Amino acid sequence: MKGSLTTLLTTLLLTGTALAADAPPPAWGALDLLQRTIPAGEKRKFSFQEVPTFEGSFLNTAIFAARGSRPGPTLCLTALVHGDERNGFEVARTAFAATDARQLAGTLIALPAINVNGFRTGSRYMPDRRDLNRAFPGDTKGSNTSLIAGIVFDTIRQHCDALIDLHTGSFDRANLPQVRVDLANARALELARRFGAAVVMGGAGPKGSLRREVMDAGIPAIIYEAGLPLRFEPAEIAAGVQGVRNVMIHLGMVTGKASEPTPASRVYASSRWLRAPVGQGGVFYADKPLGAVISAGEAIAYIDDPFTDERHVVKAESAGTIVGMAVPQVVFSGYALIHVARN
Ligand SMILES: [Zn+2]
Repeated sequence: MKGSLTTLLTTLLLTGTALAADAPPPAWGALDLLQRTIPAGEKRKFSFQEVPTFEGSFLNTAIFAARGSRPGPTLCLTALVHGDERNGFEVARTAFAATDARQLAGTLIALPAINVNGFRTGSRYMPDRRDLNRAFPGDTKGSNTSLIAGIVFDTIRQHCDALIDLHTGSFDRANLPQVRVDLANARALELARRFGAAVVMGGAGPKGSLRREVMDAGIPAIIYEAGLPLRFEPAEIAAGVQGVRNVMIHLGMVTGKASEPTPASRVYASSRWLRAPVGQGGVFYADKPLGAVISAGEAIAYIDDPFTDERHVVKAESAGTIVGMAVPQVVFSGYALIHVARN
């Protein structure tokens, strides 16, 4: 029985291969996306889903699609998975606005405000207080967050050949413009370096995060992280838009000259957060800017105790580059202060 099944499967596979080789390439035409049709050479912005229920209304966010006039891959941009990380919205919106569908090969799809309620209210989390970036691939029978994660994830899996997920630092922390990628995946690493950010940081990302789950589904994915939450920062946004354009040039979607890829020497395999020591909370200030190259033992920040006026100096544990840091604020024991990528 097993033998005959194997023979049958082999025959089917071989027949399939022969058919594929003989068949002409499929004609390029309109894109069918979420019950809409976008003709070749045109752009559309519309509602992701119009669900006539209270919970369904949280899916009523925007989707932008540009269908090129010529065949090519589909690049997807996602932003506001964390609803307070507004730079990402502007990167997606501006990159889409700058795309001329008549000059495009392939398709650009942007989901610029996935946690649309968080965008309105400034909340990182979903209306049910869950972190959307731990809920992928989602569950259509789960919580409100799982439901939204599931529907977004299915759309990405169905349509995207590559993904750039856009983020910023969390809470009162800023990130040096950087790309995060699983260094073990050659295709994703190539996207990361071509993006051309100041640094590339290695790591697979946490379980349930959009990037990691999309990678597990076989789609190369990277994160662009830049700046602070709750702000629109022009330099960080411009660097992100340039990065998206560099990736589109790399994928053959648009022509033009890309900026230089991130050099191999600026790709870091590991990083570490320096934290406020136990009992040393107080008023925190950094002594070094984002992007500073530091050596082991160097003083890089301090915490003043407002009761005693004693100063605790924060020293680098190892040589590296500062890729993230807290803005001046009151900090408590264990608070993540300075993020150092290690050479
Ligand atoms: Zn984020």
